[in-house]
Amino acid sequence: MLVKDEKTGKMMPPEVYPAALNPFKRANAAFVALVRNGEREAMRDSMRSVESRFNRRFGYPWVFLNDEPFDEDFKVGVMKMTRSEVFFAQIPKEHWSYPEWINQTYAADERQKMVNENVIYGGSESYRHMCRFNSGFFFKQKILESFDWYWRVEPGVELFCDIDYDVFHFMEANNKVYGFTIVLYEYLRTVETLWDATREFARLHPDYIHPENTIRFLVDDEKKGLQDGDWNLCHFWSNFEIGSLKFWRSQPYEDYFKFLDEKGGFFYERWGDAPVHSFAAALFLPQSAIHNFYDISYRHNPYQTCPQNRKLFHDNGKCECYPENSFDTDGRWWKVDGNPHEL
Ligand code: GDP
Ligand code: MN
Repeated sequence: MLVKDEKTGKMMPPEVYPAALNPFKRANAAFVALVRNGEREAMRDSMRSVESRFNRRFGYPWVFLNDEPFDEDFKVGVMKMTRSEVFFAQIPKEHWSYPEWINQTYAADERQKMVNENVIYGGSESYRHMCRFNSGFFFKQKILESFDWYWRVEPGVELFCDIDYDVFHFMEANNKVYGFTIVLYEYLRTVETLWDATREFARLHPDYIHPENTIRFLVDDEKKGLQDGDWNLCHFWSNFEIGSLKFWRSQPYEDYFKFLDEKGGFFYERWGDAPVHSFAAALFLPQSAIHNFYDISYRHNPYQTCPQNRKLFHDNGKCECYPENSFDTDGRWWKVDGNPHEL
């Protein structure tokens, strides 16, 4: 017997292709990985984890992005890790190069200062292009045009619990926009003027700030708020994200990224996509649209999370992580939105 695969429209043997076997409503979603040819094995490790814990039952496609052409070994290697559709795309030059307003001599001087101070990735140009790309351009790639949802997967990450439901459909059905697993403190040296730039943007566009925002996740002194308060350096760790592509394509975010890009901080400092995404989520979204995937036990060196409720997650063999090894930066998000581990 053959059944129609919802995703491809092709007639498929259902026991081989999970998209055909799965009768539930599906989301228009894909995994997105920005990755280098040399990271093939680490990428395969990530896929092994994501496929076995989640995607072998759901069959969402994979999209691989690279500033260089993918080589055959990479393509063959990752295609062997999934039964889903796989797409490869090269990033256009204008999404991975210096804008004309950047003073490259000044940028090089500032990089050298960071090298002297041993700032992590302080001397790297490619790291800066990567952060700028993830901030402003990944969601604009042609190959992603037809998708509404993404799950960002980096090489070398790992999942430790079965995910038995469709996380993309969960996002859609519950009006979620941004999902994360880990909260961290940023290195101030890499983002010295990012907070001020963000406040300046907020003054220019007060209408973009959502009335149910979570500025109090970013500023500890609630009386002071965005304009007078200091940023506590909290941000969502963006190497894991399950989110809405439409949000990054929206006018407020388009304007925000352009404003930041013109300041030059992606090159003169080392602004990360993690604080940029976090500021946008906390300012432009209602609290209810941000979701902590506390049930997804996720590891990207050197941190990992693990669900705390032993009865629901451990005694039944759903997870293989150790609850006592779970990392969370002082429960920073839970102070805002409640601690889901107490459920
Ligand atoms: P870290 O997690 O901050 O230590 O940075 P990573 O080295 O993991 O880089 C973040 C993501 O961008 C990973 O998915 C990398 O594979 C990817 N990446 C970093 N630099 C480059 C690059 O120059 N080219 C490509 N294609 N991907 C890159
Ligand atoms: Mn990484």
